[in-house]
Amino acid sequence: MSTGNLIDRADFHLKIVQEISDLVNKSTGLNTILKRVVNKVASSLHFDVVSVYVWDEQNQQLYLRSTKGLSVNPLKDPITLKPNEGLTGLVFQKSRPLTVMPASKHRRYKYFPEIGEEEYESYIGVPILLQNRCVGVLVGQTKEKRVINPAEEMIFEIIASRLAGLLEVADRLERLKTPSIVKHETRTYQGKGVSTGIAIGNVFLFRGLFQQISSEESEKSDPKVEKIRITEALSDVEADLENLVKTLDSKKLLSKAEIEIFRAHLLVIQGKTLRNTMYEKLKQKNISAELAVVEAIEDIAEQFESLPDRYLREKAQDFRDIGERILHELLKLDNGNVQMVEPEENSILVANDIGPSFISMLFNNSVSAVVIEKGGETSHAVIIAKSLGIPAVVGINNICNLIKPGDKLIVDGKTGFIFTNPDESLISEYKNSYSNIIKIREVIDREGNKKSGEKRLGVKLTANIGFPIDIDSAKQYGIQNVGLFRTEFAFTQFEKWPKVREQLRIYKNVAKNFDGYITVRTLDIGADKLLPYFDFPKEENPLLGLRAIRFSMEYLDLFKDQIKAILLATKKGYKFKILLPMITNLWEVETAKGIVGNLAKEVGISSADIPPLGVMMEVPAMIYQLDEYNDLVDFISIGTNDLIQYVLAVDRNSNMVRHLYSGFHPAVLRLLNDVYIKTQYLGMDVSVCGELAGTPSGALCLLSLGYNQLSASPANVPTIRYLCNRINKDLLNTVRHKILNTRKKSDIERFIIETLESIDPALIEIE
Ligand code: PEP
Ligand code: MG
Repeated sequence: MSTGNLIDRADFHLKIVQEISDLVNKSTGLNTILKRVVNKVASSLHFDVVSVYVWDEQNQQLYLRSTKGLSVNPLKDPITLKPNEGLTGLVFQKSRPLTVMPASKHRRYKYFPEIGEEEYESYIGVPILLQNRCVGVLVGQTKEKRVINPAEEMIFEIIASRLAGLLEVADRLERLKTPSIVKHETRTYQGKGVSTGIAIGNVFLFRGLFQQISSEESEKSDPKVEKIRITEALSDVEADLENLVKTLDSKKLLSKAEIEIFRAHLLVIQGKTLRNTMYEKLKQKNISAELAVVEAIEDIAEQFESLPDRYLREKAQDFRDIGERILHELLKLDNGNVQMVEPEENSILVANDIGPSFISMLFNNSVSAVVIEKGGETSHAVIIAKSLGIPAVVGINNICNLIKPGDKLIVDGKTGFIFTNPDESLISEYKNSYSNIIKIREVIDREGNKKSGEKRLGVKLTANIGFPIDIDSAKQYGIQNVGLFRTEFAFTQFEKWPKVREQLRIYKNVAKNFDGYITVRTLDIGADKLLPYFDFPKEENPLLGLRAIRFSMEYLDLFKDQIKAILLATKKGYKFKILLPMITNLWEVETAKGIVGNLAKEVGISSADIPPLGVMMEVPAMIYQLDEYNDLVDFISIGTNDLIQYVLAVDRNSNMVRHLYSGFHPAVLRLLNDVYIKTQYLGMDVSVCGELAGTPSGALCLLSLGYNQLSASPANVPTIRYLCNRINKDLLNTVRHKILNTRKKSDIERFIIETLESIDPALIEIE
């Protein structure tokens, strides 16, 4: 098969997963969803039969819940299976996927003539696992004898994992079922739960200026005046876009395809359609220019969204972008200053994405949960949500268009489910779960300052900080040292690039709160971390582009300012370490080291007082030059968030491939093991500062591999201490042996969950 075919097939498989995901998100009612899923899998992957069997706890049997291809209607004529019956029973019993060809030769084969099962020769069954408990089986069969390939097996596993959560929710709803539930139109969507906890509140839909304008009261306006405003705004936008295209063309900052996007925007601005739709709105409704822009843009965007072609559907977003530009001009014309609408008390912030300039909204105490279409577990909005201890769910496609501002919403940050318009019984069910979590949290928090396990195991916990709130909770748990200070968040608080003295203030303000050292990571911007006052060049693959140390090396003067400010703070008597992000070349460290040395002389710091210099291992290349880095630096800190993405080639913020991003992939764990062994051989000071270190499952693995310096978000410190207080070296040895000798990520994950459960089930609840 040619490479092209392989790529096409991978694309095709991803497309199926995506389509099924959309299907689950957009449908209501378990029967409908299951029916659509089995139909879709059967038609896309060419299976003659696809069925879902569900475990009935009460009667201890599996029953056929939905099927495509078998000659039976399971809702009318129930088909049941005991766990010791047939291949499907075997999958259930073993909780393991099974592929068999020819199926009829397998010792556990049992055929059901009443449903016409005798003719099927290839069989695949995968368990539907909910937190390690098998709640059903997804089965595929073909008449033709054909080998079921690993890619198909993987798709079945992904779909089964999607169904697992769905069945749990259905079970919940089933138990509460009253006829009103369906009428009430509770809708369920599932994304990825990335910060645990439960919140019940009202939707605050964040769409930048669009959101603000569309929620404003409309006052009667003079259409003639408003028309002039629109005309002026359009000509300003036109001039801006023309300049932009010219600059981009001459400086070659963007690819041709990207410049074309702006040219297309320009054509829209110059054309008659948008302009006339806006004028028409003014004439008909006597509304403000801003509202006319929003309404006209929304009309056009909606038309695009209703088109069957995906490419054209996505154009809707371009129109909204253009709308944002026009609104900016209009608002600048008025007062030069844009006022943001603030979320009300107990709001659930729902957004497509939350850029750094809007992140401060989260600090408003009124936000009780976050739901974001884009972004992954380690996106910065999520890291902040975790710091604040509020639930967060990411990756629900199109959610901003599926719900309305003010809708009542339940957010379950653990399972990733959200429910719109929940009825009273669902609310009270969740209120109970909420109080349960609070109780567990209280129990765990009671050990938030108990360091006995940490001491016994020789573990050193430090804090990851980015925001003032992190400092408070680090102090609350008696954390003396900061293992990672993400400076980029402090930089977003400025309106223009901060001067050295302004930066000095940042470092002093953090350092005065800690007796120990502060590991200041130099700016890690680019890719998903942008600064409102810096015009970043657009790139095809920003995660592989100009970010972190590469940015600093490109803009050396800005880097020097940062180092100077850290050194000036050192001179005031505070203890710092300097950490360089995303290092892939020795020269980056040599250059940085030279700058630190020169600036230390300039500000008058003796060589003995220069802060220790360290590198982050975020790119696997470093492992092959560890000894050479060791000659240059004093310590190394492993950033697992990026390391996982670069080892597995999985964008940490992508919805499409988020099921492939995992710290429990055997390759990741084996790499971490190799790194640990190498660093010990070289006598290096090594710590781990990625999110993995702050979860019970991740910390358990890291401790088992020998890592004993973990840096975690302070909000997670009590959980890690709770874990340390309950484990010993023998258990860690068993864990190490198992995770390094298991072939599949799913088996490792299952083992870790089982182990945590045996240590204390509270650890699973809080994970
Ligand atoms: C990491 O990559 O693990 C890390 C700590 O850096 P950040 O999450 O800020 O990219
Ligand atoms: Mg990183």
